[in-house]
Amino acid sequence: MDYQAFCEEFARIFEKNGLREWCRGDIVEKFFILTQRMVETNAVMNITALTTTDKIIPLHYADCVIAAKHIPENARVIDIGCGGGFPLLPLAIVRPDLQMVGVDSTAKKIRYVQSIADELGLAVTAVAGRAEEYQATCRETFDVAISRAVARLNVLDELCMPYVKIGGKFIALKGAAGEEEKAEALGGIEILGGTLQAVQEYELHLENGSEARTLIEIQKVSPTPLRYPRVFGAIKKKPL
Ligand code: SAH
Repeated sequence: MDYQAFCEEFARIFEKNGLREWCRGDIVEKFFILTQRMVETNAVMNITALTTTDKIIPLHYADCVIAAKHIPENARVIDIGCGGGFPLLPLAIVRPDLQMVGVDSTAKKIRYVQSIADELGLAVTAVAGRAEEYQATCRETFDVAISRAVARLNVLDELCMPYVKIGGKFIALKGAAGEEEKAEALGGIEILGGTLQAVQEYELHLENGSEARTLIEIQKVSPTPLRYPRVFGAIKKKPL
């Protein structure tokens, strides 16, 4: 992969998505290293279905960095089901003021995420575990819980809301069906101590064409009752 060509493609795609402020040399260099590690690691472990920069830059990097403006300065942030490090790693790269934790139930993905975070000098702790279990150790201590591509919102809310402090928020990065998912989750969000703050629909721009996205913000207004989260089977079977 050619560094100069990567920089140009990165700048083009980030600018198209209104993310010009993040096209700084030190940031682009970290994304370049991340891309190399991800592609190398993908040969031995399934990190991503995307293997070319024309897809990785918009669909993994821009898609995640769009959330940066919704996160307050110096926030403590947890990414639930971070998988190969999304949105965890892009947000940690552009926002070194954040203290970030990523949780995923697949231990080998977490080992990879911690090693690349350490190599890039990011303030990231990657934890191997299930979201509904790990919360017992750090309930209501995060300013922000964020998650992408893990579950429908009416399941995801029960995994994420217990982590959020009162006054903090849960950000769900969703695709075209975000509005519909929001509608079916509203009752559960209230039970979990949340209130819907904003639903933002927008287009994520690729080199050619675009895809629909929805960013949902839920404010934490009261404590999550201690009986939540339930075990995963119960959450899936009977979402709130
Ligand atoms: N957020 C990443 C990965 C999405 S794939 C991205 O956007 O690319 C979904 C991930 O969620 C998988 O890595 C899976 O291991 C994890 N996951 C699913 N349910 C989970 C749970 N209950 N607790 C922790 N991780 C979970």
